[in-house]
Amino acid sequence: MGTKFGFRCTDCGYAATVSGGLDKGMVAVVRTMTCPDCMEIVDVLVGKYGEEGPTGDPTYDRDLNTCPNCHRRNVRPWMTNRPCPRCGKKMSLAHDVPKVNWD
Ligand SMILES: [Zn+2]
Ligand SMILES: [Zn+2]
Repeated sequence: MGTKFGFRCTDCGYAATVSGGLDKGMVAVVRTMTCPDCMEIVDVLVGKYGEEGPTGDPTYDRDLNTCPNCHRRNVRPWMTNRPCPRCGKKMSLAHDVPKVNWD
């Protein structure tokens, strides 16, 4: 089971509920990435059954490394210093946002 956490930028107030890195559900493997087109932090599908990378299934692989909001492929892994996609300041864990178990 994967877990998503709330993160918030204390500078501009942008908030997102994401895994925060590589995360694995029952089927889906996701990685938290920044989308420069949406200016959002999103969990992007990167693999299946615990493995990162193409699965060989064209239907599934079509969605890999694609922003779930705009369906473009400009997503970049969210760096460990957790920059805000709006203002570039460091985002921190928002403990007042409930974490979400998925899958
Ligand atoms: Zn910000
Ligand atoms: Zn996007």
